[in-house]
Amino acid sequence: MRVSVMTLFPDIIKSYLGESIMKRAIENGILEVDVYNIRDFTENKHKKVDDYPYGGGAGMVMTPQPIYSTYKHIIEKNNIKDPRVIYLSPKGSVFNQSKAKELSLSEDIILLCGHYEGIDERIIDMIVTDEISIGDYVLTGGELPALVLIDSISRLIPGVLNKTESFEDETFENNLLEYPQYTRPRVFEDREVPEVILSGHHKNVEKWRIEKSEKLTKIRRPDLWKKYKENK
Ligand code: SAM
Repeated sequence: MRVSVMTLFPDIIKSYLGESIMKRAIENGILEVDVYNIRDFTENKHKKVDDYPYGGGAGMVMTPQPIYSTYKHIIEKNNIKDPRVIYLSPKGSVFNQSKAKELSLSEDIILLCGHYEGIDERIIDMIVTDEISIGDYVLTGGELPALVLIDSISRLIPGVLNKTESFEDETFENNLLEYPQYTRPRVFEDREVPEVILSGHHKNVEKWRIEKSEKLTKIRRPDLWKKYKENK
């Protein structure tokens, strides 16, 4: 999968992707992330990328020209015929695991990070295919949301996680929250690991985990619980 990121702050993206599982996926050639600085594509001599909003109001708006030129450069360079361009925006539809799964099947994704008060609406009309929000709160920029998408999508691509890092039993699989996890030591500050998961009895462990998952989901996420019961 190739992800092209359009941003005014490339270092934020590069820094996160230079560590841990993302770094390994990129080094192994499973994931390619190309980061483009929108400011490099300005056509004015001061490299200005924002301006006052027409009609007044607080803050600045990102101008269309540098974003459009960055986009043209990406699709021409990579010969992308049917570009999927995702604008990270608090006004978008809220991201979740099933959206991550759907996007993990794509070969090419272009992510557009806004800043300041956002971007000129004409860019959304012209090039954006999806608007995605990572939750009902407002951040200063689209870089963290872009990283949230890259991380959650790419770990679903075969080969990115190794066997011990598998996502198969994780939260949101089958609409359940994950069961509690324990590791060594067996006793910590007088607190013991539940006996059943030390038993080595696979069926009992499985039963205990399902019970715990169901209980947690029912209490914390009635919305998921409803879906789980419907599909059971
Ligand atoms: N004025 C905009 C509004 O009220 O909808 C908010 C702009 S926000 C300060 C600046 C940028 O951060 C946005 O263009 C977007 O790219 C990003 N952003 C902020 N919150 C986000 C969220 N919850 N999900 C995705 N992107 C977000």
